[in-house]
Amino acid sequence: MSRCVPASKPASFVLPVIALVAAACGSTEATLTIDDPSARDNAAEKLTSSTSSYCPAAQLRATYALGGTVILPWGTMNGYVLVKDESVVGLVASRDAVPCGATVVDTGGVIAPGLVDLHNHVAYNFMGPWAAPKLYNNRYQWADDPSYATAVKAPYNAVKSAGHLCQAQKYGELRALMGGTTTIQGSIGYTCQNGWVRNVESYMFCRDHIRQNVLPVKSITTTDAQKLISQFDAGTTKAYLVHLAEGIDDSSRAELDTLRNLGLVRKEVVAIHATALNPAQLQEMGAAGMKIVWSPASNMALYGTTTDIPTALSAGIKVALAPDWTPSGSNHLLSELKVADRINKTRFNNLLSDQQLFDMATSIPAEIAGLQDKVGRIAPGMAADLVVVRANGKAPLRAVIEAEQADVLLTVVGGQAMYGDTTMLGTLGVTGFDTVAVCGQPRGVLVRDATVTNGGTETLADVTSKLMSDGVTPWPLDGNCVSAQQSPQ
Ligand SMILES: [Zn+2]
Repeated sequence: MSRCVPASKPASFVLPVIALVAAACGSTEATLTIDDPSARDNAAEKLTSSTSSYCPAAQLRATYALGGTVILPWGTMNGYVLVKDESVVGLVASRDAVPCGATVVDTGGVIAPGLVDLHNHVAYNFMGPWAAPKLYNNRYQWADDPSYATAVKAPYNAVKSAGHLCQAQKYGELRALMGGTTTIQGSIGYTCQNGWVRNVESYMFCRDHIRQNVLPVKSITTTDAQKLISQFDAGTTKAYLVHLAEGIDDSSRAELDTLRNLGLVRKEVVAIHATALNPAQLQEMGAAGMKIVWSPASNMALYGTTTDIPTALSAGIKVALAPDWTPSGSNHLLSELKVADRINKTRFNNLLSDQQLFDMATSIPAEIAGLQDKVGRIAPGMAADLVVVRANGKAPLRAVIEAEQADVLLTVVGGQAMYGDTTMLGTLGVTGFDTVAVCGQPRGVLVRDATVTNGGTETLADVTSKLMSDGVTPWPLDGNCVSAQQSPQ
């Protein structure tokens, strides 16, 4: 892919970054004009589109170019992400450098890598938040609560027994997509879908190296563990995701002992939650190279506290952020970012930087899943999994962290624009999308998939009406529109 990037490009990448830093120190806006096609003053709300008519000498090839403030692994730049087929093929800092023939969309927004969600239960996400009547000590207590049976299990079972789990899965994936998630964990495999977002359990990029277990740790047999260990040793399984120590009590903490006895305190093991673990246990995990997927909204709703992230980080543990599911967690990972941001302020004394919060939703989960060469960052050669959010006059990372549902302007998976502003979708040549009102704004979402014989022609209205025919009221895909209302704590 390096042939797609002219030799002069590194200088172009660096200049806007330097300019932004200088501007923050009080220099004039004129500094920003260096190689900067979209000065910040024009960036916030401007949505324009056109086709490039200028043919530069460089022979880069691209199908389209998305313009805006791009969050790159090494900083930010005002410029264009060039996309061809399924991949990012280049980055250019000016419109003149966009290859001839490429469709250009000036988003006026912040372009970030698609979010990577490593903890979800997607088929439950047609449900709205469940108001748990009390706090619990561990995950097995609320699962036995009659309130949970009525509010969560009954509607799920109604949909399941009607044979509509495909529709439930579809609805959950569309929710994720509309929040800028492009890769998700916790799906159920069905023939009714190719996946609207990428499913880590499935073959991705011709690989299948992730295993998971939602059942109690005590249900893992010695035989299961031995099989996993041999897969770890052979390199065929790179990540094993397991719910661990979800709660606040001794029985939750003892799950790490169970894991150790099975020989599974290893770098390939990813602990979902780890809420109950004490500093010594987190040190043990860190020394072994284990990872954590943190779901603070769900933790706070069910247990009134959350994982000791400061200690986990000081123990060297890689921590990803994920929304769990809609009944006790967040609408999607973009919503969960706001919960993490709030908890960082109220409980962690602002320990986490904006970059760390952002990385927890992008590059770190990609790395934990062994997919860091394909997703979680924007760079030439990476998959074109992208989300564009309104800048709203904020610093780029802040704009993503604070983005509300209506701020999501575009979600692209593997180069395909799947959701977004209808004008942008039209410019990108996307047809056959369903139009939906998202927090009062028109958006398009690609629901139908002609390549799927089982239900591929279903519209969003078809999906919703099937779920409603089972006596459930699907929680709107735009949630409550304001994240603070979705996850109160
Ligand atoms: Zn879970």
